[in-house]
Formats: sequence, structure tokens, C-alpha cells
Amino acid sequence: MFDDRSYSVDPDLQKTLAEAFDDHIDFPKPGIVFKDICPVLANAELMRRLVVETAAQAKACGATKIIGIESRGFLLGVPTALELALPFVPARKKGKLPGELLRQTYALEYGEDTVEIQRRAVNSGDRFFVVDDLIATGGTAEATALCLQQAGAEVAGFSFLLELGFLSGAEKLSGAFPRAPVHSIVTV
Ligand code: AMP
Repeated sequence: MFDDRSYSVDPDLQKTLAEAFDDHIDFPKPGIVFKDICPVLANAELMRRLVVETAAQAKACGATKIIGIESRGFLLGVPTALELALPFVPARKKGKLPGELLRQTYALEYGEDTVEIQRRAVNSGDRFFVVDDLIATGGTAEATALCLQQAGAEVAGFSFLLELGFLSGAEKLSGAFPRAPVHSIVTV
């Protein structure tokens, strides 16, 4: 059991990131406030600090592999894996990956979606750190973690650049994976 409760995010990084996102109202459809992380990606110094922070979270919970969720989770997950010299594994939407797959379907507000991971990338004993740009309801991250569990791997922890706190996704993940800390760098 890894104890990372002493871990806390640099408050200056939190503030700088919180100011960097762009809000787009009614995108991609009415009623959604889309959080655009492109200004963060365009700022190399800010990205470097974010990746160092995310890597510290992954290290504190004893991760042995990093998994990023399509598609903005790749943008944060790949540099985090490189920073720690760990393998990176993509979790993709249905129909994108070849070979034998792990698969989990989850509910959306209207309809459902499916996340897939290559079976050969997941072994029992692996400790996966799950990375995405944003947690809303937590459904996508939960489905990803359930795929890993199916194959006998452990979920070491979760990291999100941004959490929409009013949707309680982090609580959902903590309930489903009580041994995996859920890190959100900025919560709104
Ligand atoms: P959820 O499964 O509800 O936690 O949704 C998380 C996924 O949807 C992440 O991959 C996000 O990139 C995306 N997402 C959900 N809501 C937003 C939003 N308001 N702005 C940007 N991305 C979002």
C-alpha cells in the first residue's frame, strides 16, 4: 500500500493553470461549458511544470505504467510516462485499436460509449496510473479502470488536470477504487 496523503499540489501551479483554461459556452452542444486546455499545451514552461507534478503523483502511488484516455489524456500521459521512464498505454474509443482488446461500455447522459485497451499491454501485477485532462461524471475514467481490473492489473491512482467538482466524479472513482488516490490539479 502506497501512502501519498502527504502529496499536495503547488498552489502557484494551480493558480496559473486555473487562469490558463479557456471556457467555451455551448460547445460542442447547448448547455456544455467546454474547458479548452489548448492554451496550457501552447505554454511550454507551464506544460513542463504540469508534467513534473503529474509524474510526482504517479511516483508517489507506485505506478509502473501510465494509461492516458483518448484523446487529451494522451497529451498529458505520454510526457508523464517519459518523465518517469515508464510504459505508456492508450485507452481508446471503440474501433480504433487492433488486436485482442479489453472493453468496457459505460453510460452517457444520452446513450453509451465504450473504451478499449490492448490486452497485451495489461498484465497482472501492473500498477496503472490513469491520466486524463478532465473529470466530469467520472464515467470514462471508471470504465478505463474497470478494464484494467478485469485483466488483473491494479489501479494505482488517477490524475486530472481539471475536475468539475459539482458532478462528483472524483467521489464516484474513490467509491469504486478506494485504494487509488484521485488527484485533480484544479477543481472548479
Ligand atoms: P466523464 O466521463 O463524464 O468524466 O467525462 C470526461 C471526458 O469527457 C474527458 O475525456 C473530457 O475530456 C471530456 N469532457 C467532459 N466534459 C467536458 C468539458 N466540460 N470540457 C472539456 N472536456 C470535457
